[in-house]
Amino acid sequence: MTRRDPPAGGTYVLVVRLSREAVLTVGRLGGLRLLAATYLYVGSARRGLPHRLARHARPEKSCRWHVDYLTAAGQVCGAWVWPVGEECALAEQLAACPEVSPGPSGFGCSDCRCPTHLFRCRQSPRAALAWLRQGLPDLVTELSGRGIIQAVSRRQGA
Ligand SMILES: [Zn+2]
Repeated sequence: MTRRDPPAGGTYVLVVRLSREAVLTVGRLGGLRLLAATYLYVGSARRGLPHRLARHARPEKSCRWHVDYLTAAGQVCGAWVWPVGEECALAEQLAACPEVSPGPSGFGCSDCRCPTHLFRCRQSPRAALAWLRQGLPDLVTELSGRGIIQAVSRRQGA
């Protein structure tokens, strides 16, 4: 397994670019107005993580989770994946980062008590990654949008 392959399970930050302002009608959250920016979504998967990321990266999908509405409207630029950790702790750490602003309340948080699992970058997402690297073991796998798809096809032996 090369370093560019994500682990089978873990926590992740999905990097999604919204090139223009959008209003997302997201289930019970209603209409959410999002500025054009790069967004960071925090999630986790105990297993099947490469397939989860591939689902995020696919533009065509039925919108089931909050994040599906975002990835349908924007472009998935990549993901940062850790084989360890817990998604709410990661969201908390990101919330403390001075380079990001919290996204809409309750986004991606149907099953937890976090204020949100979505954040808007004020600067380059690299600044947020550098911030997260300070608090997490340096086990991060960085994937580009294309890298997400490639990682899944490698696993399937394609
Ligand atoms: Zn949470």
